[in-house]
Amino acid sequence: MSKIVFFCIPAHGHTNPTLGVVRELVARGHEVWYYSYNLMREKIEEAGAIFVSCDDYDMEQKLTPKDAVRLGKDLAFSVKVLVDTTLALDDPVIRHMRELKPDCIVADSMAVWGKAVALKLGIPFVSSTTTFAFNQHSAKIMKQSPAQMLGMLFSLPKINKDIKRLQDRGYPVKSFLDIIRNDENTHTVVYTSPQFQPCAETFSDRYAFVGPSIRPAVEKIEKTGEKLVYISMGTVNNNMAKLYRNCIDAFRDSSCQVILSVGNLVNIQEFADLPENIGVFSHVDQIAVLQQADVFVTHCGMNSVSEGLYFGVPLVMLPQTSEQHGVAARVLQMEAGVELKKTAPEDIREAVGQVLEDARYQKNAQMIAEGFRSCAGAKGAADKILSVCR
Ligand code: UDP
Repeated sequence: MSKIVFFCIPAHGHTNPTLGVVRELVARGHEVWYYSYNLMREKIEEAGAIFVSCDDYDMEQKLTPKDAVRLGKDLAFSVKVLVDTTLALDDPVIRHMRELKPDCIVADSMAVWGKAVALKLGIPFVSSTTTFAFNQHSAKIMKQSPAQMLGMLFSLPKINKDIKRLQDRGYPVKSFLDIIRNDENTHTVVYTSPQFQPCAETFSDRYAFVGPSIRPAVEKIEKTGEKLVYISMGTVNNNMAKLYRNCIDAFRDSSCQVILSVGNLVNIQEFADLPENIGVFSHVDQIAVLQQADVFVTHCGMNSVSEGLYFGVPLVMLPQTSEQHGVAARVLQMEAGVELKKTAPEDIREAVGQVLEDARYQKNAQMIAEGFRSCAGAKGAADKILSVCR
């Protein structure tokens, strides 16, 4: 029996794909510990891991909603939060790892503290990547806008100060790239297919592309319209009442059935005058909806895109962060969707119409789905982790 410790950030999109892997490892008789946040406790314990809460140490939990929006958009701020969390967790985690003597640490690519502790204590390490794997080739698809590049240039002095804080506490990192990027020698599980991953052939055989991990649907969704349009901006930066109103106006007089998932930050009572074909919800069983949907209007979170494509649903994309722009760029390249440039009701209606009318988008989405379905999945990820255990 091996002892395996997972580390993750408090985001559903980063946690969900790992749960199937935890279940698989536990089913094979291994002991799994999981460092995360109280918000995720229930589902982590349900998967069979021993949960360890980071809430008491971490500053990420004390972020205001405004701060949370800056994460992923403001590079210097994001690095500062990651470094603060790493340093806050340093002592207790090191102490616990010395006691526990795990055979392997598996850390989400953003949960820098997991990788840092593994490096510091020489524990075998696997990176868990819920977005695309990143190297100089695939980075080209994550192109940054001139404004973002300028922002990054100005942030560098701040970032370097934060890196120095890590170095001062004995972490072997040279630049912020060491934190966010894995080198060719790092064992890495990537939750996408080699076909959907940009430049998959440029990664070493230490990378296992195991495909997205799709949880089963719990509910059954009834299709009442000729076509079903599903709209969601994910679970993080989804406070977009104006956009939701435009979506409602776009399909007010249409024969399409529309399901709109708006998250918890928008009050759904605001949308009182809904026509019969449109339903607005704070949260839906996205997997159940996607099994019926004909088009998915998405913010391009990696999980949403993978889930949509897994069911062969073509996409209308409205990316917000640079990571989401990268995902959207790949979907555009593979012609499985279109990007929404403007968000007036007529723009939304037109983009959805384009995707519904041109069969090419659905055909390409279906082709990506087949690639996903032929991957090794949670079993493959568990094999990879066990092959690294000492
Ligand atoms: N999700 C869901 N119901 C909703 C909205 C989202 O189950 O109404 C799930 C969705 O299936 C996905 C995750 O929340 O697994 C969102 O992750 P993603 O990476 O797409 O975006 P994020 O929320 O991290 O921006």
